[in-house]
Amino acid sequence: MEASTRGSHSMGVSVVVPIYNELENIPLLYEQIHNVVSQLDRPYEIIFVDDGSNDGTLARVQEVAASDQHVKVVEFRRNYGQTAAMHAGIQYASLDVVITMDGDLQNDPTDIPMMLAKIDEGYDLVHGWRKNRQDTFINRKLPSKIANWLISKVTKFPIHDLGCTLKAVRREIAQELELYGEMHRFIPILAHQRGARCVEVVTQHHARRFGTTKYGIGRTTRVVLDLLTIAYMLNFFSSPMKLFGRLGLGCLMLSMASALGVVGMKLAAGVDMTGNPLLLLCVLSTIMGGQFFSLGMIGEVNARIYYSDQRKQPYAVRSLTNFEHDYDPSVPLDRRV
Ligand code: UDP
Ligand code: MG
Repeated sequence: MEASTRGSHSMGVSVVVPIYNELENIPLLYEQIHNVVSQLDRPYEIIFVDDGSNDGTLARVQEVAASDQHVKVVEFRRNYGQTAAMHAGIQYASLDVVITMDGDLQNDPTDIPMMLAKIDEGYDLVHGWRKNRQDTFINRKLPSKIANWLISKVTKFPIHDLGCTLKAVRREIAQELELYGEMHRFIPILAHQRGARCVEVVTQHHARRFGTTKYGIGRTTRVVLDLLTIAYMLNFFSSPMKLFGRLGLGCLMLSMASALGVVGMKLAAGVDMTGNPLLLLCVLSTIMGGQFFSLGMIGEVNARIYYSDQRKQPYAVRSLTNFEHDYDPSVPLDRRV
């Protein structure tokens, strides 16, 4: 590590870039990032996470790493997806501020100094807004406009562009987040929920120069499902126990009231209750109340198991290049010393 402490402006920068089959993009990508971060007068590292590429991308980034010690490479054993790759890069980052970005030159590293200035102002997370987004309208911009609008309504978190990967986050906050599925796009919301001071800045966006997008139409449905999960996680919906517990409680109250009615009518008025609808209501609501309660309980246990399961490492690492510390990739991150 080079000279580090020079007041608040000395915070080091870890640039994290997930890459999957981006062979042609690597030389220019490295050059662009290098040109910006080497001029910052801060310690820096550039972490490429190779997400199981099969087009020679790995060899290309390892060549770059051989000539520049600031470049570090995490090699996945197979393709795990952009979120897992970003999660790994964040976990392996060692400097104060993590910058995440795409590896296809759609983000512009010249935005980095402006984002770091915001962190220096005291923000914990700076997220980009691709106001001038260079993607097709019908299948990319329109669905994401609708999704962003919906998500900011549901979460009450004002945000224009959750899909923008260019972000600057204080490392300790980034490393606290558990990312899976398509979760990387919810980083600002998750961080905000944990008390991070977030700010949005307008960032540049370019059309993809080489290669094609790695996603098809299936992504939209995955994002919607993840939105539902996150809404649940952040307690925007009740927990299963609360939802079904309330239903169960309602049913049991109904069953008690009807039971009182049944007993009262039989004892006080001597009505023969055989086949009486009130008796039917009493029996049905008792059974339903019990059912709803147990459903809630099962749901609650399930939800807990599900989330504690996420603590398992969501990817497997084959090799690490240029890392100072000898990590053992087989040890889950939260159990490493
Ligand atoms: N990516 C990845 N793993 C994947 C798919 C994508 O690491 O399974 C990387 C990809 O190499 C790029 C970034 O994630 O650096 C964004 O991918 P892409 O450009 O395909 O997404 P889009 O810009 O279309 O949202
Ligand atoms: Mg892209």
